[in-house]
Amino acid sequence: MRIIETIAEWKLIKRSSRGSWGLIPTMGFLHDGHLSLIRRGCSENENTIVSIFINPTQFGQGEDLAQYPKAIESDLEALRREGVDVVFLPSTQEMYPSGFDTLVVPGDLAIRLEGRSRPNHLTGVATVVCKLFSIFQPDRAYFGQKDFQQYLVIDRISRDLNLGVEVVLGETIRSSDGLALSSRNSYLSDTERLAAGILYQALTKAHYLYRNGARNCKDLKDAMMSIINSEHVVSLDYLSIGNVETLDELEVIETTAIITIAAWVGSARLIDNIYLSE
Ligand code: AMP
Repeated sequence: MRIIETIAEWKLIKRSSRGSWGLIPTMGFLHDGHLSLIRRGCSENENTIVSIFINPTQFGQGEDLAQYPKAIESDLEALRREGVDVVFLPSTQEMYPSGFDTLVVPGDLAIRLEGRSRPNHLTGVATVVCKLFSIFQPDRAYFGQKDFQQYLVIDRISRDLNLGVEVVLGETIRSSDGLALSSRNSYLSDTERLAAGILYQALTKAHYLYRNGARNCKDLKDAMMSIINSEHVVSLDYLSIGNVETLDELEVIETTAIITIAAWVGSARLIDNIYLSE
């Protein structure tokens, strides 16, 4: 496994490489959610590159950029075990050299949900992912369903800007009580960690009601809210039932929908979603 810190080192590798490349962008502190994307990347491509970069432009003022967890040695060990070919560990200076003055601003898909709660977050994500696509020119890039809006935005950008990267969606990996794995779960105290399971309980309740014929979004949201409100350490940011392609809010579900949720549990802001389809 080659560990590189600069774009110049990558150019030398790319020049002598053969076959397809799969890219998995991450911010490190790897868990099984990341590893499932990496395994898929390894199985679908001849070569795999994982980036670990805590991207400052996707964090807002007062967010957790400074506290974001890091575990670079154990991350590298895990990546070695998975058979990853290249790990890219750039400095902030390498990604944003002085004078950097360009942003990739996604459109309508990014103004709702995360876009409303975290202004500029998806612009920061879009900018860094476009840079990674442009640097590595991978055949495929892998993103997790946990961040479904992020996946939609990146897929849209790859098509709109003809970046030529196939954007692949990997399933959300969960712990035994259903909580979606997230680096930010490390912020949770024991009590908060127990309470956080309520988010998935609310999502599965809605899924159950949908499977039994419920189609009215207000009814589904009411059922979810009564579960979420039973945990006092959980404070809802948003709950949305939207069109799976546009994220436009729905009143009645005709066929499919995506339920997305964001909530504060103590100092951790967690997001999750569930796909409803017949
Ligand atoms: P992050 O390091 O949080 O920026 O995440 C890097 C990638 O891993 C993103 O595409 C995330 O959507 C994905 N990811 C994070 N958590 C999970 C999870 N629990 N299951 C599947 N993918 C995930």
